[in-house]
Amino acid sequence: MKYFTRELEHIERWKNLRKDLFRNEEPAVKLIGMTTPSEEMVSQGITTETLPAYTARQSHESEGTYEDDLKLNKKLISWGHHTCLEAVQFVYYVTGVSKSLAGQWTRHRIGIGWTFRSTRYVKANKNLFIYPALEYMDSEDTVRAAYGIYEREHQRAMDVYEELKNLGVRNQELRRLMPVGWSTAAYVYVNARSLRHFFELRLDKSAEWEIRRLAYMMFNNAMGVAPTLFEDLMSDESLKLGK
Ligand SMILES: Cc1cc2nc3c(=O)[nH]c(=O)nc-3n(C[C@H](O)[C@H](O)[C@H](O)COP(=O)(O)OP(=O)(O)OC[C@H]3O[C@@H](n4cnc5c(N)ncnc54)[C@H](O)[C@@H]3O)c2cc1C
Repeated sequence: MKYFTRELEHIERWKNLRKDLFRNEEPAVKLIGMTTPSEEMVSQGITTETLPAYTARQSHESEGTYEDDLKLNKKLISWGHHTCLEAVQFVYYVTGVSKSLAGQWTRHRIGIGWTFRSTRYVKANKNLFIYPALEYMDSEDTVRAAYGIYEREHQRAMDVYEELKNLGVRNQELRRLMPVGWSTAAYVYVNARSLRHFFELRLDKSAEWEIRRLAYMMFNNAMGVAPTLFEDLMSDESLKLGK
């Protein structure tokens, strides 16, 4: 099951025009790890998803089944009892995002951290570019023309990079001339509470297209593993595009 498909399809409406562009890279999100209850807890039917509710039962020393815990997750969220969501940590590997996106993403300070690819240690000639979605443009000809200009400037950036490199300039200075559309990749460590906060801000229509695209992709993934921790966001009409 996919969520926010209409919103994601709108952002991706010109994706087919980008596939052969110079050094184009598209985003990808992969879940590579998440909190797993200990063997003892698993034997009692506790899962990654029910861990928040299970631990929250401490407050009343109550007991419940797996189904009860799924229901309790939803209640805890509606009550604003969110600390227990910190029981679950996700680790994602995100590729094909721009330096511009990284600047916005790393403004989130609480319950989230990253290891980004270093542009000091990794050579720029391995790197690619993130072309803008231009989803607000309706003319295919105009979009092609705009992509052509981005292509030209990306090519120029790589030419200048090679020129300076041949003079002996190091990576750490070469990267200064790269555009903010230069691609990067990161492992991100985020707990379920912080991930919800990211979704609340970045699934919103007012969020910039690239970080909103990433939020849609991460939301789809998170919904696949722990839906009760995130599904209430689907009923927030303000996050959806109008008809
Ligand atoms: C649509 C949009 C447009 C934006 N435009 C701009 C812009 O033009 N310029 C710009 O600079 N930024 C901009 N931002 C970034 C924004 O200001 C936040 O820095 C970013 O969204 C992270 O949000 P946060 O602080 O809630 O998250 P986190 O840093 O993860 O914090 C999570 C929560 O913890 C609490 N918290 C964290 N730190 C403190 C603290 N020091 N004191 C008290 N409470 C704290 C708050 O409740 C906060 O919501 C924009 C964000 C969005 C979504």
